[in-house]
Amino acid sequence: MVTDPPTTAHPVLELRAVSKVYRVQTTMFNRPRDLRAVDDVSLQLHRGDVLGLVGESGCGKSTLSRLLLGLEAPTSGEVLIDGKPMTGTSIRDRARRIQPIFQDPYASLNPRKTVADIIALPLRVHSIGERSDDAKRVTEMMDRVGLPARMLLNYPNQLSGGQRQRVAIARALVMRPEIIICDEPTSALDVSVQSQILNLLMDLHDEFGLTYLFISHDLSVVQHIASRVAVMYLGRIIEARKSTQLFADPLHPYSKALLDSVLTPEIGMGLPETNLGATFPNPIDPPPGCAFHPRCGHAMQRCHKERPPTLREGSDRVECWLHDDLEAEQTRAVDAQRSTAATPDTV
Ligand code: SF4
Repeated sequence: MVTDPPTTAHPVLELRAVSKVYRVQTTMFNRPRDLRAVDDVSLQLHRGDVLGLVGESGCGKSTLSRLLLGLEAPTSGEVLIDGKPMTGTSIRDRARRIQPIFQDPYASLNPRKTVADIIALPLRVHSIGERSDDAKRVTEMMDRVGLPARMLLNYPNQLSGGQRQRVAIARALVMRPEIIICDEPTSALDVSVQSQILNLLMDLHDEFGLTYLFISHDLSVVQHIASRVAVMYLGRIIEARKSTQLFADPLHPYSKALLDSVLTPEIGMGLPETNLGATFPNPIDPPPGCAFHPRCGHAMQRCHKERPPTLREGSDRVECWLHDDLEAEQTRAVDAQRSTAATPDTV
């Protein structure tokens, strides 16, 4: 696991009370309805952070990553880079600073291009450096990610899954970005290859001083790499804490159910069977009150009607009425400080 870096004064990337709502028409005869894919999420990434984001399919993780990459605009709230609104930055500037690594390395690589062309493409698209320097930059980057130079002229279908993901990583890093959004980067790989790619990502994090948002449905992967973890449920961050604390003593019943189901935490096990008693709710029709209440063994009457507030202690936070008495005073104190200083939530 990557340890916490010293916290810098300003986050390099930040979501401030961001929501993303889609209008969805489920049948020809129904009126369109709102699907709140991301609901009032505040997150901060400081330089050198490795923040893990965990949740089931459909919880809003991928929408959140698209918002952070500037591929989608929030319905409300703000995305900031170095304290400045992302909307004020150019595509080129964003691409230089934030790069994605996606889940399926085969789908994300052009099958008609050679490895050399694929890695050099971002440099040409954004007119970075001289074309005559491309070969040097590409071979340097291949070396850094463990690809032999003899693969320069290979096509994606001549590579293994792990090699393809190394190409995708080299393509992201050739721009020398500060931040990488890793969206399930190991879930399409064999178990044995997953740990190699994770170790590579951790080495590159230290070597290049990178900041990662590491999105995964796989708790064991997140435990392996992240210094902090945010758990997402139906578009909201329901718990966010240091990785060691969350894995040792989860506060939210949903986090606890996920962890209890991991009997042998091994990379590649994926999200476990949870014994949660009900299936994941339809995001178009979320339950009232605490959205987790139909699946929660601790649900009280108020949980059916009132949504719990975000309770904070330091940079830890949880949304659950079970912790209301314990942390209400601290929450109010932090809220008072925040309104004075006008600073957003910290994850
Ligand atoms: Fe369970 Fe209530 Fe906490 Fe929601 S608020 S997680 S229903 S105890």
